[in-house]
Amino acid sequence: VKTQGRQGYCFYAPEMSQRSAASQRIENVLRHALAHNELALQYQPMVDAQHRHIVGAEALLRLYVDGKEVFTPDQFIPVAEDTGLIVSIGTWALREACRQARTWQREGHPISISVNVSPLQFQYAGFCERLDTILNETGLDPGLLELELTERTMMSGGDGTIRLLRRIRQRGVRLSLDDFGTGYNSLSYLKHFPVDALKIDRAFVRDITHDAETAAITSAIIAMARSLNKDVIAEGVETEMQSAFLREAGCSHMQGFLFGAPMAAEKFEERLGANRG
Ligand code: C2E
Ligand code: CA
Ligand code: CA
Ligand code: CA
Repeated sequence: VKTQGRQGYCFYAPEMSQRSAASQRIENVLRHALAHNELALQYQPMVDAQHRHIVGAEALLRLYVDGKEVFTPDQFIPVAEDTGLIVSIGTWALREACRQARTWQREGHPISISVNVSPLQFQYAGFCERLDTILNETGLDPGLLELELTERTMMSGGDGTIRLLRRIRQRGVRLSLDDFGTGYNSLSYLKHFPVDALKIDRAFVRDITHDAETAAITSAIIAMARSLNKDVIAEGVETEMQSAFLREAGCSHMQGFLFGAPMAAEKFEERLGANRG
């Protein structure tokens, strides 16, 4: 084993093999979960900024091992992406989310459902056909489905991206630009890609009430998006102060622990029941 420099740490090999052992373990768990129905979705309320009514939900993947959540999405999604498993997992999530939203619609709660789409899933030939199949199978009104795409996802589509986005929108499905502001191209993406909404990343929301520059940038993003007729969803809203700032700045929708953490479908239904009044 080689040592390097003053700190005398080992050559990279041990750390690397450790990391790949961890991701190997996650890969095994993912394959097992896919085969045995151990993936689940949780739903986080999306509220309108004015009245705080639940108008939608974001579907977020959870992975269970013996009934426990051992890995977070930030741990297992990258592995799913590296191994290509994200295509099956993402398709499962899309179908399950649409099925759930259709059920809620039937029960008198026509809320929208937002589903995250990974680059590989988006690039994969036949994305639109698969989307059509799922919409047909579940019978969900396409206008109730919103796909969340990050800059990374948009980039992965190459020259065909705009055409693909248009095809998706032709079905009435809405598109939002997720994690807005964290990439390099956010502003130009907003101009070039036909999206309906943008989601301001939690990193901005976190700092708006104690950092004047972040507050100014966030206000400017919201104003600009509104002038382009886009909806603006703020994510990661945790405090009343953040909520008040964002509402006054013109945000149309909000999501965050202040309004509800991601929760199981049954729990979400209870919230919808209370929503009705
Ligand atoms: P994201 O799409 O940006 O999702 C928002 C994340 O912020 C979620 O983490 C959510 O639980 C968390 N969050 C929501 N409100 C708050 C808040 O007020 N405070 C804080 N601190 N956090 C909040 P989660 O569920 O752990 O998911 C992490 C990421 O994993 C997601 O980030 C998304 O990129 C990815 N992911 C989750 N589900 C899927 C999926 O079905 N498909 C794909 N491709 N990616 C997914
Ligand atoms: Ca998202
Ligand atoms: Ca996000
Ligand atoms: Ca994020």
